[in-house]
Formats: sequence, C-alpha cells, structure tokens
Amino acid sequence: MSVENAYMALSGTVDADVLRDERLSRRTTYRIGGPAALFVAAHSYEALARTLEVLSREGVDWVILGKGSNLLVSDKGYDGCAIVLDGQFARHSFAEDGSLTAGAGATLSRLVNDALKKGLSGLEPCVGIPGTLGGALSMDAGTRREWIGKRVRDLVVLRPGEGMRRYGGGEVEWGYRSTSLPTDEIILEATLELTPAAPDAIAADMEERLARRRAAQPLGAPSCGSVFRNPVGQSVGALIESCGLKGESCGGAQISPEHANFIVNRGGATAADVITLISRAHEAVLREHGVDLLCEVKLLGFGA
Ligand SMILES: Cc1cc2nc3c(=O)[nH]c(=O)nc-3n(C[C@H](O)[C@H](O)[C@H](O)COP(=O)(O)OP(=O)(O)OC[C@H]3O[C@@H](n4cnc5c(N)ncnc54)[C@H](O)[C@@H]3O)c2cc1C
Repeated sequence: MSVENAYMALSGTVDADVLRDERLSRRTTYRIGGPAALFVAAHSYEALARTLEVLSREGVDWVILGKGSNLLVSDKGYDGCAIVLDGQFARHSFAEDGSLTAGAGATLSRLVNDALKKGLSGLEPCVGIPGTLGGALSMDAGTRREWIGKRVRDLVVLRPGEGMRRYGGGEVEWGYRSTSLPTDEIILEATLELTPAAPDAIAADMEERLARRRAAQPLGAPSCGSVFRNPVGQSVGALIESCGLKGESCGGAQISPEHANFIVNRGGATAADVITLISRAHEAVLREHGVDLLCEVKLLGFGA
C-alpha cells in the first residue's frame, strides 16, 4: 500500500482538502489520538468517489469520520485515510410535508435547532448529542428508548466499488445503538419524517432533556459520551459505580465522578490511559456482576 502515492494522486483534487499526518486529536471530542497518515475532507460526491477510487488502487484503508464524538483513536494514530464529508454533504432542507433531507456531514445540533424553528417535532431525543447526521445514523444515536433511525424515511449510501443505493427506512433494522447497515457502506444523505408541533412544546421538551444531561453528565471535560452500552434493564453507570470505580484515574483519564459510564480527559490523557480504564471497568463488572459490557465507543488504529 502506498499512502504517499495516494497523497500525490489526490493532491489538487477539486472539492477536496488533502492532508498528510493530520492529528486526529484535533478531530475527536476526546482530544486524543495520533495522526491519520492521510486525511481527506471531501466536499462533493465526485471528490469522494475519486478519493475512494485512488485509495482502492493504492490499497490504502479508509474510515469515515463525523465529528469524532464517539471515537477513541490510538496514540500511534491510523495508518490509513480518514475521510470527512463536508461541503455538499453538509446541506439540509425541509420539504412542504415537513420532512427533512440532509447530507451526512450536516451537524446534528443544527438540524435539531432548525427543526425546532420550523415547528417540527421528532429530533428532540437528539438534543445535546454532538456529531454529524452520518455519525448519528451509523450509531443510531438517541436515548435508551428513542433513536434517530425511527425517523428515517429513506437514506442514500455509497457502496465503494458498486455505486449508490437507496434504502427505505423500514428496510434497515434500527435498535439501541445498532443498525443493520453494512459497515463498509458510506451514508451520504437521509430524509427524516418530522411532525408539526407547537415550537414552545418542542423547546420545553428539549430544555428538560438538556437539564437532565447537565445534571447527570460531565459536560465540562472532553469525552466520547457513554463508553459502554447499557445492558437490557440495567444501567452501566450504576454497575461501574457499585464496583467502586467512580473517580478512578489512569494518567490524564478518569472515570467521571459525576457519571461512571463517562471516561473523561482531565488533560493530557492518552488513548492508552482510556483503554486501561475501559479494561478495569469491563473486568470489574464481569467479575462482580457477571455482565459482559459492550463498548459503545468506536476504536480506531488499535489493530484488528
Ligand atoms: C458529551 C457527549 C454526549 C453524548 N451523548 C450521546 C447520547 O445521548 N446519545 C448517543 O447516541 N450518543 C451520544 N454521544 C456519542 C456521539 O455523539 C454519537 O454517537 C454521535 O452520533 C457520533 O457522531 P459523529 O459524527 O461524531 O461520529 P464519529 O464519532 O465521527 O463516528 C462514529 C461512527 O460512525 C461512523 N460514521 C460517521 N459518519 C459516517 C457516514 N457518513 N457513513 C458511515 N459511517 C459513518 C464512523 O466511521 C464511526 O464508526 C455523546 C458524545 C459526547 C461527547
């Protein structure tokens, strides 16, 4: 594989910013992570297609990044190409029937706010969640009981090497932080069904949800949100806390004293520090409760 050849071939591509050795700590909410050997911000479909074609020819691995708000990147970084969807992929518009069509690179908070301004309900469970629409759909972001996938009327993906494909929302299985979408497909755009409602009622609902977040979550320190998925009928935070690990530190990382399912970067944390705490929490909960916790955070650059 030749990252250098790919870099040379992609430099100067219209509608793309192409960088070598881009520090991913700048591109994750954890503020942790080594460099991506290659980084491409694709502003149009043509630029994305060209990028994938060159990467395939040069045998360079790739990953799509949203805002990196659910991502832990290893300290040594990623030896492939991190691709961000921007420009044309960050647009959104509302139709007469109240549906919202948006590109995968659109910021979720912008969509939530614009839906509120239009008096359209449906995105309230996403208030306060950082990231892009693509990241939210890939993760099926939301709360424990409500998630964004339930709102999808249809979505357009790119199957590298094959082309675009449209799914009806009902063709995809959406669940708590899971979807049946193949992991090698790139989400390009989605149409979400929203319903008219009084803006005051939507705003009040959102404010209540934000207040609950502010009361329970450590929003002042860099993190990736919840580290583990909640097992059915149980709270990961309570399980970890019952093992005495609330406030546990390793280097600059700490299991938050406010919410034990958050591991925060107190300053200078490395990915290795976070991994150590993830392992400690996982082992303790398995030993004391027999529960095998599953990570919600995605790992990049740690090998297979
Ligand atoms: C303070 C805080 C609070 C949070 N609260 C919540 C919460 O309440 N509920 C919740 O669900 N999450 C929460 N999160 C986690 C995170 O914000 C969500 O998972 C978010 O949807 C991730 O979006 P992103 O754009 O940052 O994706 P990234 O973190 O960049 O990527 C996440 C995954 O999505 C994939 N991906 C991104 N874009 C695409 C695309 N276009 N096509 C295919 N795959 C793609 C990536 O490859 C990666 O596997 C929180 C995070 C933080 C920091």
